[in-house]
Amino acid sequence: MVEIIAAIGEDPNREGLRDTPRRVAQMYAEAFSGLHTDPRETLRTTFSEPGEEMIVVRDIPFSSLCEHHFLPFLGHAHIGYIPRGRVVGLSKLARAVEAVAHRPQLQERMTGQIADAVMLALKPLGAAVILEAEHLCMTIRGVKKPGSVTVTSAMRGVFRSSAVTREEFLQSVWSSRRP
Ligand SMILES: [Zn+2]
Repeated sequence: MVEIIAAIGEDPNREGLRDTPRRVAQMYAEAFSGLHTDPRETLRTTFSEPGEEMIVVRDIPFSSLCEHHFLPFLGHAHIGYIPRGRVVGLSKLARAVEAVAHRPQLQERMTGQIADAVMLALKPLGAAVILEAEHLCMTIRGVKKPGSVTVTSAMRGVFRSSAVTREEFLQSVWSSRRP
């Protein structure tokens, strides 16, 4: 960090910059804390619940750092699954999102990692994940397109094999959206 500050022609000893390397190190430690968390662990405590109705948790906010620029991408995750006898506390899904968000990431990979964690931890009939995010590396550098939103999805199990199930999930995610 000191080298970066020097390389841009700034004085690393200037008052406002003196503690910046320490602050940035702390920030990255927090931003990458998910590297030590297995998202499946956060989903480990399940409870039995008969029925195979779709469960959708929408608008889980997340922030992550893209691995190419270490710049944030911020947005929302929508997760659906159809249990096969076992469900998980709803807040645990948010924790799983956090675990995969807090590491150097690609939105595409993160989407699949959440879906796979739900599949492995809950053994449901299927899992579906949609992420929508704005990438600061598209906003403040390169093509500079603020406001553009990247949408990624991962469908597993019955969400992949059944168009009807997938449609039901998409309906509950996109319905009652802000216009
Ligand atoms: Zn980037």
